[in-house]
Amino acid sequence: MKLFEHEGKELYRKYNIPTPEGIMITNSSDVDNLTIEKPVVIKAQVLQGGRGKAGGIKKANDKQTAIKAVQDILNKPLKNEIVSKVLIEEQVRIKQEIYVAITIDDVEGLPILIASAEGGMEIEELAKTCPDEVIRKKINPIQGLSRHQCISFIKQMGLTGKALTQVSDVCFKLYKMFKENDAIVAEINPLVITEDEKVIALDSKFEIDDSALFRQKDFDPESHLESLEDPYERMARSKGFTFVNMEGNVAVISAGAGFTMTVLDLIQYYGGKPANFADMIGGAGPEVMEQMGKLILQKAEEDANIKSILFNITLSATPLESVIDGLSKAFENRRTNKPIVGCVRATDAAVINMDLETAKKIMYEKGVTMYDNIKDTVKAAVEYTKKGLVN
Ligand code: GDP
Ligand code: MN
Repeated sequence: MKLFEHEGKELYRKYNIPTPEGIMITNSSDVDNLTIEKPVVIKAQVLQGGRGKAGGIKKANDKQTAIKAVQDILNKPLKNEIVSKVLIEEQVRIKQEIYVAITIDDVEGLPILIASAEGGMEIEELAKTCPDEVIRKKINPIQGLSRHQCISFIKQMGLTGKALTQVSDVCFKLYKMFKENDAIVAEINPLVITEDEKVIALDSKFEIDDSALFRQKDFDPESHLESLEDPYERMARSKGFTFVNMEGNVAVISAGAGFTMTVLDLIQYYGGKPANFADMIGGAGPEVMEQMGKLILQKAEEDANIKSILFNITLSATPLESVIDGLSKAFENRRTNKPIVGCVRATDAAVINMDLETAKKIMYEKGVTMYDNIKDTVKAAVEYTKKGLVN
């Protein structure tokens, strides 16, 4: 789950990482009540980066300009998200913008500290334009990250004196914040050194591991749904499963990330193209299955490129009866005549509280063909995309 900049900055304050003073606005008229004595920055709160370039960051020296800036940004789309809140902060006089981040190195499976004396631009751009300027340090999660390690790391950036001490201190605190909140990304870009030699975090990108949300009770995933771009993704999240939209001709209902990727790959292998996938989270009940089926059907009705629908479930935590119960409910009285094919396989851990033949029969009555293996199911789904059977 990604946090908005203002939420990230609230966390910074908790960890004593300096940030500018600011106030959140959700209504243009809220600005009327503010006294703006110092220059301010008006910042659109969306979950994507690169707001500066997209026109989501504006500066103002007086109230009139601030009001105008808020009106220009608030309730308007920015990079496909509707801006529903705006952060107004006192403007900082920047001497140097630097980049500091902690993320997980997927290959090593360790947290990694990344920094650069050239902040402001996105890290991908940074890594391309000046790769030598980007420094990295793996963090041993058992030993953690000491103040001393932070100082010798930041020294490599060429900082000295007060700036060195303060930036190292920010790194030290940022790792604490990263670890205690089960983050997968904590990026400060830019972390600035001001004209009066203060170090301040001007931006925040912070993402919490979704698998850890059960113990990170301070964060409410529901309040972050509105900024998801795709309405189907939003619907899926609110119902407890994942939906990802792509551009193709076969819609997919599946379970488990690795398994889903395999199914998508097989579709390509047989000459089809995945249109999307709905991915069940382990242990989902019949209600979630039904919602998955309904959402995929709704999308298939709307998207003329989708020619067939396939479900592939390998049972483990969810019993067979729940899968069949949920999906058959979703598929009955459907408005689309696009063919649906499916396959259900079971692992050793699965609860098979229904005979597979019965399952097939129930589905058959709903006009859905079930196959015995994944290969035949995918082949059938792809065949339908070629035959032009469906308009
Ligand atoms: P992003 O574009 O979404 O990453 O948004 P940022 O919060 O990083 O802001 C983009 C850029 O706006 C920064 O790199 C700064 O150059 C500039 N900016 C943001 N806040 C201030 C400020 O208080 N003072 C000044 N001078 N520039 C700012
Ligand atoms: Mn930024």
